[in-house]
Amino acid sequence: MHHHAPATVTFSISEAPFRAVYHMSAFIGDGVPNFDIYTAAGAATDMLVRTPALGRVLAQTVGGAPAALMRGHGAVVAGESLAQVVSRSFYMELNARIQLDAIRLGATVHYLHPEEARLATRNLGGYERAWELWKREAPRPPGNRKAR
Ligand SMILES: [Zn+2]
Repeated sequence: MHHHAPATVTFSISEAPFRAVYHMSAFIGDGVPNFDIYTAAGAATDMLVRTPALGRVLAQTVGGAPAALMRGHGAVVAGESLAQVVSRSFYMELNARIQLDAIRLGATVHYLHPEEARLATRNLGGYERAWELWKREAPRPPGNRKAR
């Protein structure tokens, strides 16, 4: 999945580490890779992944990680289901906002310890509980107003 969530973009352009700050985003752990299209292309681009070669570098950057930032663009998120990638995208953005708020407080930020992140990630699974709620509450498109 690909998104342009704004607080996530903030971390893509900063050398401040993007790390898990709470349990719902524990999959971020000690951080995710950051794809720099300028470095990948070896020259300036329009910031879009338009060639198979750039797509390969992006995929290699993600590797086995649950997500990667894309400098000045957004992020890509990997997962085993639609529910998991949508949920990871949602909580990735919330993590970025919470982390930015904590940094603005000006005191030391206490990130999840690696073992906390590992244990919490195991509990998150595919975010089935949140996904079922979101599906029930999502607005229905016009012309499809039947009860679920
Ligand atoms: Zn995009």
